Amino acid sequence: MEKRVASLRHQFQLDLRELTSVREVEQFKVKYLGKKGVVAELMMQLRDCAAEERPRLGKCINDLKEEIQLQSEQVLHGFTLAEESARLIEEKIDVTLPGRRSFLGRMHPLTAFMQEMLDIFKEMGFSVQYGPDIDSDYNNFEGLNFPQDHPARDMQDTYYLSSDMLLRTHTSNTQLRVMQSADLPIRMVAPGTVYRNEDITARSHVFFHQVEGLYIDRNVSFADLFATMNTFLKRVFGSSVQTRFRSSFFPFTEPGVEVDVRCSSCKGSGCRLCKQSGWLEVVGAGMVHPHVLINGGIDPELYSGFAWGFGIERLAMLLYGVSDIRSFTENDQRFLAAF
Ligand SMILES: [Zn+2]
Repeated sequence: MEKRVASLRHQFQLDLRELTSVREVEQFKVKYLGKKGVVAELMMQLRDCAAEERPRLGKCINDLKEEIQLQSEQVLHGFTLAEESARLIEEKIDVTLPGRRSFLGRMHPLTAFMQEMLDIFKEMGFSVQYGPDIDSDYNNFEGLNFPQDHPARDMQDTYYLSSDMLLRTHTSNTQLRVMQSADLPIRMVAPGTVYRNEDITARSHVFFHQVEGLYIDRNVSFADLFATMNTFLKRVFGSSVQTRFRSSFFPFTEPGVEVDVRCSSCKGSGCRLCKQSGWLEVVGAGMVHPHVLINGGIDPELYSGFAWGFGIERLAMLLYGVSDIRSFTENDQRFLAAF
């Protein structure tokens, strides 16, 4: 029996040295210390020994058991630490890596730009009004002094929905509605989408956005129009911008003007952007035609006013150097994120 214990002591130490993982140590413990393990087997054999030898031999076996327990626990502890640190290294978080950014939605550049434009007029005392995209021929043309067969109607290729309903070709359709419903004086701007039956190219689209403006009061003169347009354009293009007012024709104004600013690209020397003219056409404006005032229920003998309109896309393209109007509606995230 003593020989057997000595041989097992030698054997378990050899076995212990071979172990390489926590799992193997657990298996080792089962083999030596389990219910049907090597030590339990020795205890069984003890019954066959002489009664007077049993206490001494029993102590021998117990010593062996304790040695196995102690040493296997030490090895187990070593493996546990090693495996834990290996796992920590593997699962290590690099706190210097940039975090994942969550995507935040934001305003479309045209919407943001439109709001900026409206804010300038709001500061000047104008209120914001909205007209419908679908309107009558009367509000879009007839009442604004575009009689049937008037050649000016051909300037705006129109989407007709029926003989007298259409998709508005300009935000000027808001003018009569406001004149008929608002108290005087009127100081309003009306932003919105307008529609023209045109080829879609880098320069033109079937829909775009305008901001309409209308100012009606007693004794409103051309000087007020000049001052308002100059103030607005200085806010948009910078205080040093040069403006130019050219005589022009719109059926609903008398007289009408085109407002130009000095070309920001060539500073006036002539380039492709300004078609070598040195000037960029940005706003159409004029004194409200007396016929339009009458259609709006306003006495042209007592009141006068001016109106203007400009394209949001055109202004944004000039300011931000966008060369293709289609970019605004193609929803290319790279383009939209550039603003
Ligand atoms: Zn130019």
